[in-house]
Amino acid sequence: MVKQTIQIFARVKPTVRKQQQGIYSIDEDEKLTPSLEIILPRDLADGFVNNKRESYKFKFQKIFDQGANQETIFESIAKPVAESVLAGYNGTIFAYGQTGSGKTFTITGGAERYSDRGIIPRTLSYIFEQLQKDSSTIHTTHISYLEIYNECGYDLLDPRHEASSLEDLPKVTILEDPDQNIHLKNLSLHQAATEEEALNLLFLGDTNRMIAETPMNQASTRSHCIFTIHLSSKEPGSATVRHAKLHLVDLAGSERVAKTGVGGQLLTEAKYINLSLHYLEQVIIALSEKHRAHIPYRNSMMTSVLRDSLGGNCMTTMIATLSLEKRNIDESISTCRFAQRVALIKNEAVLNEEIDPRLMIIRLQKEIQELKDELAVVTGEQRTEVLTDAELLQLEKLITSFLEDQDPESRLDVGTDMRKIHHCFHHLKKLLNDKKIHGKSTVSSEIKDQDCQEPLKEEEYQKLRDILQQRDNEINILVNMLKKEKKKAQDALHLSSMGSSEWRHSQSSPLPPGNSEGVRTLPSSATTQVQDVSTVGHRSSLLHRKTGMREEMSLGRQEAFEIFKRDHADSITIEDNKQILKQRFSEAKALGESINETRSKIGRLKEEITQRHMQQVALGLSENTALPSMSDSLEEKLRSQLEEEKRRYKIMFMRLKALKVEIEHLQLLMDKAKVKLQKEFEAWWTEEATNLQVNSPATNSLNHMRPFPQTPESQQERSQLVANRSDVNTRKILPSPHPIPQSWGHNSTSASLESSISERPASSIPLTGDSQTDSDILAFIKARQSILQKKCFQ
Ligand code: ADP
Ligand code: MG
Repeated sequence: MVKQTIQIFARVKPTVRKQQQGIYSIDEDEKLTPSLEIILPRDLADGFVNNKRESYKFKFQKIFDQGANQETIFESIAKPVAESVLAGYNGTIFAYGQTGSGKTFTITGGAERYSDRGIIPRTLSYIFEQLQKDSSTIHTTHISYLEIYNECGYDLLDPRHEASSLEDLPKVTILEDPDQNIHLKNLSLHQAATEEEALNLLFLGDTNRMIAETPMNQASTRSHCIFTIHLSSKEPGSATVRHAKLHLVDLAGSERVAKTGVGGQLLTEAKYINLSLHYLEQVIIALSEKHRAHIPYRNSMMTSVLRDSLGGNCMTTMIATLSLEKRNIDESISTCRFAQRVALIKNEAVLNEEIDPRLMIIRLQKEIQELKDELAVVTGEQRTEVLTDAELLQLEKLITSFLEDQDPESRLDVGTDMRKIHHCFHHLKKLLNDKKIHGKSTVSSEIKDQDCQEPLKEEEYQKLRDILQQRDNEINILVNMLKKEKKKAQDALHLSSMGSSEWRHSQSSPLPPGNSEGVRTLPSSATTQVQDVSTVGHRSSLLHRKTGMREEMSLGRQEAFEIFKRDHADSITIEDNKQILKQRFSEAKALGESINETRSKIGRLKEEITQRHMQQVALGLSENTALPSMSDSLEEKLRSQLEEEKRRYKIMFMRLKALKVEIEHLQLLMDKAKVKLQKEFEAWWTEEATNLQVNSPATNSLNHMRPFPQTPESQQERSQLVANRSDVNTRKILPSPHPIPQSWGHNSTSASLESSISERPASSIPLTGDSQTDSDILAFIKARQSILQKKCFQ
């Protein structure tokens, strides 16, 4: 049993503006426990509800300042928890903080760069790597992904449902057994044999989460998400199974109701969410106070699900995410206060071992049989029934193979049944007597043969040598035939892979099954390849499902989508990722080629070594000497070359594997971005359609037609623009460094405008500051919109 308090860490999100940086400081040296000091600016201190203190200090296990990257967070926070999960203990990591402070970024990761991947993908990668290294144990991994919104649980991984809103997902409910263990009814568990399969599940869950979210229910900030990795392990032959669970929890935003200040449905949501976090707080308070008999776990779904993680059988870690800007100071202080309470809670983690009943039955049955046999021998109690014909035949077969076995150590094992033992003695006696009578002469001649081994005569020697030569020839012919067959198979494989556009096909297995000895010991990719194809199919079908509506689009709508896509802030990320992907593809392709070359080299070297060996043997035979001396320098050189090539092969193979994971991840990011884009387009489109129905298209179109990029940065840019300019009609136009070509808008016909749209660089429409040009731009936009509208309503 391991007793441990919940570990608390703080992570400060990078701030955009410099002047915000004076409001906190980190003291790393304070007797090894670092502390975070939040300094309240004077103007805020006056109005601050609780008191007028000007600074607050909070201790944390470790504090990660703005510069900390995802790798550091994983190494310091998640890796130790993953290690204890691999050792058989339960683990939980949860992120707590206000909306926008970086909980999702920390737990799942950013949606743009591979290096931004968060704790979940990194932990999966680490766990699968470790499991692969440990071949002495049999492991199984399952994944579940639960979202709790408004006190209802939803299964994010249900394959049967196509979610367009949360309510479409299967509802998960809590069941409690007589031992007060919690069971989640309807939460599906999915086996993941590889990192890739687990990543696909994460992607599926995240996509469902995103799709189910509507602007009215910003579920991502108001719901809790629990991604769970379930690990079971067993030593071969042992009946003991170890189970461990790792919960990775992205909690809802911790902001208070009072500040939310919204009405109607949003208020209900805010109340709920805060209720749920409020219950979490109550549980934490109850746990941190000594001698509290009742802990109110049952008050909310989330505390019920995380019951073991809080004050139970689990190693738990909390990450307090902080966005330390002036306007967030009170929320940051309340996040830190919550963390300090959490740090008082003690958990007791135990190894979760249980006996597999099926294996136990088999083991006990065997033991009973052995004991019965032993008892029969000890008590001398004979079985009365005679042996059947089949049993007798079986025994005789055993005796024959025992007698024929040349191994002096071989045993005649018939168990402890005395009837069988007696029968064996009888049978052996019979055999011996038969031999004495009939085979006297033969036995003596055999002995004579063995005793006097004369040197071989010249002709016999010649005969043997001829036979050897014949056999060698036969072997060579067979080897050649085999090589030809292999080459044919490889060529076919190569051809089919060349024809496919997917890299995963073209990389092809560098190790055809049944390859020669040295290569066979390297990790085989044949199975992963099959896997790849299936997961790709799975992912693309998912994407197809999620974006399926596009196929039914009218031409105009498609065009609008193209423009929306081009102008969307995410398009740069998608483009960047595409470029990186391209690079990785070509890197992987080059690597695949080098691997193939090295493999052929290995093959050639092996062949040379075999030939050399055969030559040496033949030489030895022809000179009638013993085996050639061991130190054949040429052969040794060849062998060391072979080892070197094998090493190179292994290194390249590992690199290719890593590349594959990266490519897979990038593809998932891109798929996710595409789904997001499509969803935003649909929302924009619906809004546009409604607006156009309400207002006359000619007068009102300008305010709605420009698709809006959704990033905070662009929003900021936009508000700055609004502040700078009084012209209301320019609100939705982004500044850009590119000047606009004069031809745009000047006396242009619709047709030439249309072509200029398609020729225009993929950036936003710029403002020049010159009022004449600006009004040209506006004219251009109007024209562009009427083209779009025409197409939309065709
Ligand atoms: P939350 O889940 O707490 O509401 P998010 O994780 O969605 O917050 O973060 C809000 C935004 O800030 C996202 O755009 C995210 O990419 C960005 N962000 C958060 N933390 C970091 C960080 N440490 N480094 C860079 N960007 C971050
Ligand atoms: Mg979030």
